[in-house]
Amino acid sequence: MLNIVIFGAPGSGKGTQSELLVEKYGVNHISTGDVLRAEIKNATSLGKVAQGYIEQGQLIPDDLMIDILASVLDGFKESKGVIFDGFPRTIAQAEALKKMLNGRGQEVTLMLDLEVPEDVLMDRLIKRGQQTGRADDNEETIKKRLHVYHTQTAPLIDWYKQEGKHHHIEGFGELEKIFGDICEAIEKKK
Ligand code: ADP
Repeated sequence: MLNIVIFGAPGSGKGTQSELLVEKYGVNHISTGDVLRAEIKNATSLGKVAQGYIEQGQLIPDDLMIDILASVLDGFKESKGVIFDGFPRTIAQAEALKKMLNGRGQEVTLMLDLEVPEDVLMDRLIKRGQQTGRADDNEETIKKRLHVYHTQTAPLIDWYKQEGKHHHIEGFGELEKIFGDICEAIEKKK
C-alpha cells in the first residue's frame, strides 16, 4: 500500500505531480480542493459552505474537512494506495489522517514536501487565474492563502519530520526532473 501525502504551498505543483503519480503507480488520488470545487459547481449545501471560505482564502473547518476525507476514502475499494493532495493542511487533520489509516491497518508511506520560491508561486497562481478563471487565483486571495499556508499548514513539515516521513523535493525546475526526484524518494521507501 502506497499512501503519499503530497505537500506544498498553493501553486507548488501538487496537482500536476499527483496526476503523473496516478499514471505510474495506479493509486487513487484525493484532491480536497477538487472535491470542494465539484460541490460548489453542483451547488450542494456543502458547496455553499465551502465557497465562502475558499473565496476568502481561508481553510474549511477541520471537522468538516475530516468527514469529507473519510467518506472519499471509504469509497475506494481494493485500492493500491492513495495520494493525498491538499490534505492534511493542519496538525489536527494530520492527526486525524494518521488515526484513519491506522484504523485500516495502514499508514502514510511518505510525505513529499514540494518547495518553491514565493515569487514563483505568485507568478504561477496569477497565470493560472488568468487561464482558468479560478475564483481564488487573484492577487489578493493568493496573498491570504500564502499567509494561511505559512501559519497553519507549514507547521506540518516539523510534524512529519518527527514522524520520520518528511521528504524534501525541490519543486522549482523541469517538471520531469521534479517527477524523477519524487519517484526516487518513493522507490527508497516502498
Ligand atoms: P491550492 O493548493 O492551490 O491552494 P487547493 O485546490 O488544494 O488549492 O485548495 C483550494 C482551497 O480549498 C483552499 O484555499 C481551502 O480554502 C480549501 N481546502 C482545500 N483543502 C483543504 C483542507 N484540507 N482543509 C481546509 N480547507 C481546504
